[in-house]
Amino acid sequence: MTTLQDLRPTTRERVQDIVDRLGIAMTTKYDWCFSNTGGPYLVNIWHDNMYEENGDIYFVDRTSDWADENRATAIQVQLNRASAVSSLIQTAYYTKAPVNVAILDGTRKTVGLRETSEAKQRELDSVLWYPHHKDKDGRIIVIRGRPQPDDFDPYNEEQQDQKQTPVPPPPNKVEGSGTAIFERDSEIVKAVKQRAVNGCCEFCGKEGFKTASGGFYLEAHHVIPLNCGGPDDVRNVVAICADDHRRAHFGEDRHAVRDRMIWEVLAVHYPNDVAFFEAMDEKSLDIKRSDSGQRKLEDNRIDN
Ligand SMILES: [Zn+2]
Ligand SMILES: [Zn+2]
Repeated sequence: MTTLQDLRPTTRERVQDIVDRLGIAMTTKYDWCFSNTGGPYLVNIWHDNMYEENGDIYFVDRTSDWADENRATAIQVQLNRASAVSSLIQTAYYTKAPVNVAILDGTRKTVGLRETSEAKQRELDSVLWYPHHKDKDGRIIVIRGRPQPDDFDPYNEEQQDQKQTPVPPPPNKVEGSGTAIFERDSEIVKAVKQRAVNGCCEFCGKEGFKTASGGFYLEAHHVIPLNCGGPDDVRNVVAICADDHRRAHFGEDRHAVRDRMIWEVLAVHYPNDVAFFEAMDEKSLDIKRSDSGQRKLEDNRIDN
């Protein structure tokens, strides 16, 4: 039987070689997880974040905890990478898909930025891992080599969780604002809301203020406005704080802000869609170049 100790990596495989072997496209080796749309899925997990219990080897997805603890010191791109791990695990959980795990070992920084931890060893585990269930805090447990039972129903499990910790439903509408994402319900806004880790602005990382209904206030913003040819697509929408939203429309640096939103926020979440973001980048340049584009940017403030 394989023990946790057996899994400690002894060699250093290149990220590029691992993703090639799995047939996954990669934009940057610095990401913490990789996938094609619909799989396969690959995450990097530190060996010392794995546990052994009753013959099972497992890890718990704590990336949102990490994001919380490091919000003050981590740069936004790291928080986005953390968020990408969390959404990958959730996707695998809800689609009952297996996860490939590259096991890391090396020098760990004990406090602050995990990004500066250095992986000296990295090996792709030949055995697949499976997201199984959520612990009492809603974190997903991923178990090595043990597929979910046939009757596993992730949606049902979630409903049970909700019954245990009832949350008052948010109102359908917030007076005086058409933009609070926690109060709007389109599929796209819902998806973007899930993506924003713990109600924090995807651009600056600041936590939105708490709303009367118990959510966090963030605003959904189309990076390329719809009236400038931007698509109504999760890959064109960010969940940001009210300050950054004004800045994105009216700031003197709004063109730079837009490009950063494309490349530092959205492209990080969807690493396989480089062509999509290059087209966004083109449109972004068009807005900067044309007076009408800039006027539309200001006009579009309200219904975004
Ligand atoms: Zn912000
Ligand atoms: Zn906007």
